[in-house]
Amino acid sequence: MSRRTFLQAIQRATPSGKVVFGTGTSIACQEIMQQAEAAFPEGHTDPEAMFKIALAGHTVIGFDVVMPLFSVCHEAAAMGCGVNWGGLDMMPESGPSIFRTAEDITIPSNLLTRPGCAVPLRALSMLRKELGDEAAVCGKVMGAWTQAYHYFGLQEFLIKTITEPDEVKRILEKLLPVTIQFARAQLDAGADCILLADHATRDLCSPRTYAKFLQDLHAQLTETIPAPLILHICGNTSDRIGMIAQTGVACFHWDTKTGTPADVRKLAGEKLALMGGINNIRLLQDAPDKIAAMAHAAAASDIDVIGPECAIPLATPLANLRAITSIGRERKKA
Ligand SMILES: [Zn+2]
Repeated sequence: MSRRTFLQAIQRATPSGKVVFGTGTSIACQEIMQQAEAAFPEGHTDPEAMFKIALAGHTVIGFDVVMPLFSVCHEAAAMGCGVNWGGLDMMPESGPSIFRTAEDITIPSNLLTRPGCAVPLRALSMLRKELGDEAAVCGKVMGAWTQAYHYFGLQEFLIKTITEPDEVKRILEKLLPVTIQFARAQLDAGADCILLADHATRDLCSPRTYAKFLQDLHAQLTETIPAPLILHICGNTSDRIGMIAQTGVACFHWDTKTGTPADVRKLAGEKLALMGGINNIRLLQDAPDKIAAMAHAAAASDIDVIGPECAIPLATPLANLRAITSIGRERKKA
């Protein structure tokens, strides 16, 4: 069963001979939405539409996991940011900043029943009920660092990391409970594991900054959230995979800018499970045989879960997504 093998894979325990497929970030593209008979922006704001699109990740693409939180804006919406939920060709964006200092941060007592959180919680429980043991259900939360971009503004927050490091620590500490509350609620709703997205990408967060502000926080989340965590960081992370491995997260969802699958496995060491291997630009532009070749290369380099490196472009051809899982179907036939 996919559920079991996926959960084994993100803990480096894939049964031999199996190849596991999936991603903890968005699989939503226009062709998938057509197949699912549901579309954006309702896929962000209506539990039924969200459920249908996420389910297609398993039923149409053949991934071993489904994940219904397609944007990075759910916590932001629940915390009070204005969110433009976009449409068929635009992903959601959050509006102007809502906080200026750590003292401004208040977490609404009804955070989890506000639509930003309540909609995906409902979709997760529908997915769990529909899939049972057939496929794994993954939740998704934003780390405190990513949340701070939304609430303080990207530039303003990054300036603070240099000018007011103690203030930044207070901000991150005050935002951590949002991540924890939402993750626990997702597990209660039926998620098996949680993708933790924290966009500490190299151009926005140096390795020293990662060590100073984030490594301990990620370790703390690993201890506090009672399920396997998959950490997602975009961009080249070759300078911090070693630190990530020490946080205790079960799995790291890496971007192909980091290096080849073999390079990334070497940097990660033997204990950290790895998810990804498929470059998003190539997923959008190349032919299916080229995508299948990338999937084969990832499988040959000990990547535990093979799939897109990040939220896929909305115009991604479905044939290319199916090309990823085709290597598993070929293997079954052989
Ligand atoms: Zn990403």
